[in-house]
Amino acid sequence: MKIFEEIESEVQCYARSFPRVFHKAQGEFLFDQEGNRYIDFLAGAGTLNYGHNNPLFKQELLDYIQSDGITHGLDLHTKAKGEFLEAFNDKILKPRGYEYVMQFTGPTGTNAVEAAIKLARSVTGRENIIAFTNGFHGVTLGALSATGNSHHRGAAGVTLGGVSRMPYENYLGDQLDTTAYLDKVLSDSSSGVDKPAAVIVETVQGEGGINAASVEWLQSLDVVCKKHEILLIIDDIQAGCGRTGTFFSFEEAGIYPDMVTLSKSLSGYGLPFAVVLFRPELDQWKPGEHNGTFRGNNLAFVTAKAAIDHYWSDDKFSNEIKRKGDYIARRLDAIVEQYGEGNFTTRGRGMFQGINCINGELAGKVTRIAFQKGLIIETSGADDQIVKFLCPLIISDESLKQGMDIVEQAIKEVCAKEDSIPEEKDYFDLAS
Ligand SMILES: *Cc1c(COP(=O)(O)O)cnc(C)c1O
Repeated sequence: MKIFEEIESEVQCYARSFPRVFHKAQGEFLFDQEGNRYIDFLAGAGTLNYGHNNPLFKQELLDYIQSDGITHGLDLHTKAKGEFLEAFNDKILKPRGYEYVMQFTGPTGTNAVEAAIKLARSVTGRENIIAFTNGFHGVTLGALSATGNSHHRGAAGVTLGGVSRMPYENYLGDQLDTTAYLDKVLSDSSSGVDKPAAVIVETVQGEGGINAASVEWLQSLDVVCKKHEILLIIDDIQAGCGRTGTFFSFEEAGIYPDMVTLSKSLSGYGLPFAVVLFRPELDQWKPGEHNGTFRGNNLAFVTAKAAIDHYWSDDKFSNEIKRKGDYIARRLDAIVEQYGEGNFTTRGRGMFQGINCINGELAGKVTRIAFQKGLIIETSGADDQIVKFLCPLIISDESLKQGMDIVEQAIKEVCAKEDSIPEEKDYFDLAS
């Protein structure tokens, strides 16, 4: 369709990788205008954990609309909002022992991050925020300061301040504990790093290349934050809502972050919705101090509640994610072993996994061939070198197998064509 070239901005991005006009979607499938079917391993960049147009919530949404339920409500108390809050409190927070206040922010992830860091600065009276290498937190100025990627940062047009960058786990090799470095820097009044208000971190870096922090690293990060009286903000926008196997991605680490941001799959239906959770004593906002028109997407409240009721009332869904995640890991290990010529590696946790294809060119070839074979899958990482598996968590075993088969075939074809796969550069080989 020519209209897209004619008047849609050059800023478009995913549309370039998948140049079709899409029309319908159901579960793990997308259909283009011509009726071609694609298995969706991108799933709205992690927004469609429960699949497209999940039939379990569709009827509830239709009924709500049919009955003239409120669609937009600013931050007015509505029945739909109250029911969502009750479901979230009873089925997500209480069973996990978390006591949080919920702030409704503007409807995108970056809005939640902005609110979290603004509140952290205001509560502590400190400006600096610690963020990590390869972190991604959104592209509005505050969140962008915490984002690592130079392509995104370069578009800011102003100085991105107020953030100190620290190495994520394994950034300097697996021998060096980067939380010990953080502790050292914070303990040294001449380190040049101002005492921060907060640390913001993803437990699995999605856009940064599926770097999964270990439970031990997260626990010691938590200890360092407590020791220095710094707030710990977990950005769970992509890793949360079940992606790693539990509702919150940090449950396995047994930590209790001071703040948590959620968005992407929170509404369950791809409807825009974002929140920040924080400990009650941090709720020092004055009325209206941080606002926004679109903080009351009641359609999203309806589907978010339905998602919690249907999937998080017991641990069945969680076990399913773990089972499928194990399958993905086994398949990826086997693919890498057979075709990766000793160079490709696997990474990730739960249903948040990837293959490191060493460079963006190879990874791009894999995803392009996969697309020709009917699979939508994207890359991430500093050089787009990671093929990123983000399929809907509700995917059938059959489609999951089909998708993995397509990736396997694509890698086989790409590797057969490459004469030699370059060695991964190791700038920090501590052994030598
Ligand atoms: C996607 C994402 C964001 C930003 O969300 P938007 O809705 O794109 O603004 C922030 N943090 C993480 C971890 C994300 O994956």
